[in-house]
Amino acid sequence: RVLTLSLHDIVFFIQGEHLGRGTRTNIYSGVLKLKSEDDDDMGGYSQEVKVILKVLGSGHRDISLAFFETASMMRQISHKHIALLYGVCVRHQENIMVEEFVQYGPLDLFMRRQSIPLSTAWKFQVAKQLAGALSYLEDKKLVHGNVCSKNILVARDGLDGEGGPFIKLSDPGIPITVLSREECVDRIPWIAPECVQDTANLSIAADKWGFGTTLWEICYNGEIPLKDKKLTEKERFYAAQCQLASPDCEELAKLMTHCMTYDPRQRLFFRAIVRDIDMVEKQNPSIQPVPMLEVD
Ligand code: ATP
Ligand code: MG
Repeated sequence: RVLTLSLHDIVFFIQGEHLGRGTRTNIYSGVLKLKSEDDDDMGGYSQEVKVILKVLGSGHRDISLAFFETASMMRQISHKHIALLYGVCVRHQENIMVEEFVQYGPLDLFMRRQSIPLSTAWKFQVAKQLAGALSYLEDKKLVHGNVCSKNILVARDGLDGEGGPFIKLSDPGIPITVLSREECVDRIPWIAPECVQDTANLSIAADKWGFGTTLWEICYNGEIPLKDKKLTEKERFYAAQCQLASPDCEELAKLMTHCMTYDPRQRLFFRAIVRDIDMVEKQNPSIQPVPMLEVD
């Protein structure tokens, strides 16, 4: 049963194949059947939309409130680079978020799949679009809380050059405030250091740190930072205030450093990040996006 309706009259959805597991969730593909204006009241749903169903199983009912907090945050958002949340629903004892299906899936896996290296221009566009989405959230004083390349979805690959890539930031999933300490430590180096100390420190500044780590992943083609480190080693990494290796792409490396300062007050505002990216782009014609060609 669908509890929240969007602009359309959502009538029901069909669950499809299992796409993967998230933090305490299972993700399935699905189809939303919508009533369109042409449909009569006798049934018949002529519109179908491909979606993903993010299912919080009945074993996690204790955190359903936190799950709905995320859904409620996502419902306040309307931005071209943020995935659309159609609504939430309850089926038996499971809670489900119904989100837009994004064709090429998560950015980390997408990048790792490529056999030909992705261009600096491509990476720069992704960074710019993500910064734009986060700047929008910053203006709205909304905290995402789980910025990483796994949570960035590729809507257009832009590999043929035309128009370039087009990404959408997906929802943050379960808020870190209800995660165990181990789960938080496991999120090093994406989770901000102050949040490992105390998840109540979660703020917009934490998204800047996550953005910095995501830039690192983008520069290194979806490689996993601190991949082979055990939990205790990860903890030590933050305790010693270490930094990730600096990528070759100088401009993105500089931004990364400005985002990954251990003092959250020293991190750049997204508004300034967007401005910096625009400036670098203007100075380097080679990384400017290729315009979409008009077809007669
Ligand atoms: P977390 O809170 O840790 O991000 P999650 O519940 O969001 O957990 P993910 O690990 O982000 O789950 O996603 C699991 C898998 O589901 C992804 O690897 C991807 O294959 C698929 N997926 C998630 N969202 C979408 C989407 N909007 N479109 C297409 N595939 C998606
Ligand atoms: Mg996710």
